[in-house]
Amino acid sequence: MNDTSSIAGELIAAVVAAKGKPLVLAAVAEIYAAIQGEIDARKPVCAISGKCCRFEEYGHRLYVTTIELAAFTAQLQAEPVENWNGRGCPFQAGKLCGVHAIRPMGCRLFFCDPASTDWQQTRYERFHAELKHLHARLDVPYFYLEWRAALAMLGVADH
Ligand code: SF4
Repeated sequence: MNDTSSIAGELIAAVVAAKGKPLVLAAVAEIYAAIQGEIDARKPVCAISGKCCRFEEYGHRLYVTTIELAAFTAQLQAEPVENWNGRGCPFQAGKLCGVHAIRPMGCRLFFCDPASTDWQQTRYERFHAELKHLHARLDVPYFYLEWRAALAMLGVADH
């Protein structure tokens, strides 16, 4: 077994176990609600350009933790994504997010509004630290993986 398939096996086991724990799902929802509270207070501008989800074009990447993947897959109702070309996010529909209600933290906190760059960076670090701490508190193995790589390992989207 190579390193990638070994990591995939460990990730799948961790996500499957975590998404069966109501405390995990509640804790992630609590952090997402706190993030929304920060956004409501700060009001960064979103022009709904859809650029931020086209990672190659924008030149950035989305990373996710184990418990975010657990919460996401527990609530995902769509079938595994097929016929995706491997670029951008497989859930982007036009300029919109097809999984808006259950999107991970990075999507919630990223705004291309240059006036919010420092703000979002400090919030990202703070909420990522809270998510990381949850893994220890709720006995969930911690992974921090690039979004599309994690989705492929979990069989949710591949190309
Ligand atoms: S999950 Fe939604 S918001 Fe996040 S990158 Fe994909 S399409 Fe964009």
